[in-house]
Amino acid sequence: MQTLSEPPTRWAWAEIDTGALRRNTRAFKGLIGARQRLCCVVKADAYGHGVERCAKVMHAAGADMFAVATVLEGIALREAGQKLPILLLSEPPATAVDALLEHDIMPSIYTPEFAWAYGERAAALGRVGKYHLAINTGMNRIGVHYTEVVDFRRSVEFHAGLECDGTFTHFATADEPDGWDHQLQCKRFVEAIAGLREAGFDPGIVHCDNTPGSVLNKDMHFDMIRAGIGLYGLQPCERAAAVLPLEPVMSIKARVTHECHPAMGEGVGYGYTYRVPRTRVQICTLPIGYADGLPRMLSNRMEVLYRGQRIRQVGNICMDQCMVAINETSILHPAIEAEPGDLMTIVGADGNERITLDELAGMCGTINYELACGFGMRLEKIYV
Ligand SMILES: *Cc1c(COP(=O)(O)O)cnc(C)c1O
Repeated sequence: MQTLSEPPTRWAWAEIDTGALRRNTRAFKGLIGARQRLCCVVKADAYGHGVERCAKVMHAAGADMFAVATVLEGIALREAGQKLPILLLSEPPATAVDALLEHDIMPSIYTPEFAWAYGERAAALGRVGKYHLAINTGMNRIGVHYTEVVDFRRSVEFHAGLECDGTFTHFATADEPDGWDHQLQCKRFVEAIAGLREAGFDPGIVHCDNTPGSVLNKDMHFDMIRAGIGLYGLQPCERAAAVLPLEPVMSIKARVTHECHPAMGEGVGYGYTYRVPRTRVQICTLPIGYADGLPRMLSNRMEVLYRGQRIRQVGNICMDQCMVAINETSILHPAIEAEPGDLMTIVGADGNERITLDELAGMCGTINYELACGFGMRLEKIYV
């Protein structure tokens, strides 16, 4: 057995490379000027990488702000000791205003009702509630319509309990910066900001770029970029990969818990979706399954790395375990055999081979973002 650090209670884990995370964070700092800010998006437990440790690494590497998706994510960051500003990327129910103020989490705001409830509570506590105004420039997910931002500011601005700390939008097609759709969203945002200024409103920190926007459309950085996926070394699209190389942060590893040599024709796993095709095939079990984020739809399709070689996963992936086959295809190769305790790599590099989250996401018809979040659900994270 290798001397990797790993969890004492389970032979499956996510390895998080903090050096890669630090270098990726610095790479994003390098995209912006000294007076511009880097907002590190750490929603969904830092895209499955574990927010507590990741936020510390990002902070040390130059993060200026954190963004989260839920109030509880913001509270978890504060409870982990984070002092940087925290931005909630959407508007929670008005019943959340006390939690926001108590933990100093800035909401995004786009309804007068919420703005009012937040401002009232802040004023009652003798405080000022900072917020970021979200503008809908065409994604049609959240935000004040781009033609109505001045009216919106007018309708909330008189409230002494409110302070606009920033104004932002989010792009639907940032990975295609030359496209008409993106150009139109940019134009609407630029005009909305100009309109606010003309009407005498300070928009605060102006920001719009996510990872692909930050990498591909530097003209739109304004005062801050909001980077998520790229910090974790995952590329949002091939174009961004060509401009800003990044290092994957997450690897998924497991050790063989059981091995056997079923006779030719025997089935493997629930439903016998795989039958052993010949003699001397070794079936090895890994203690990782779909409840750990390994999609069941990858059953009989994905591969794992063993001693630098690709071997096939076989049979239906179970909730907590899956099986792989060794010496499955040819008796001509020198036979290799695994033993319980041997290390296999589900995502990451082994020798010259590498399995990426993109490879698995492609087979599932989804994106690396979703796979990373999934692997974060139950596996223990080991920070190296
Ligand atoms: C998730 C999110 C981001 C980060 O996007 P990436 O593509 O992961 O960089 C930025 N802004 C908003 C509003 C988001 O929801």
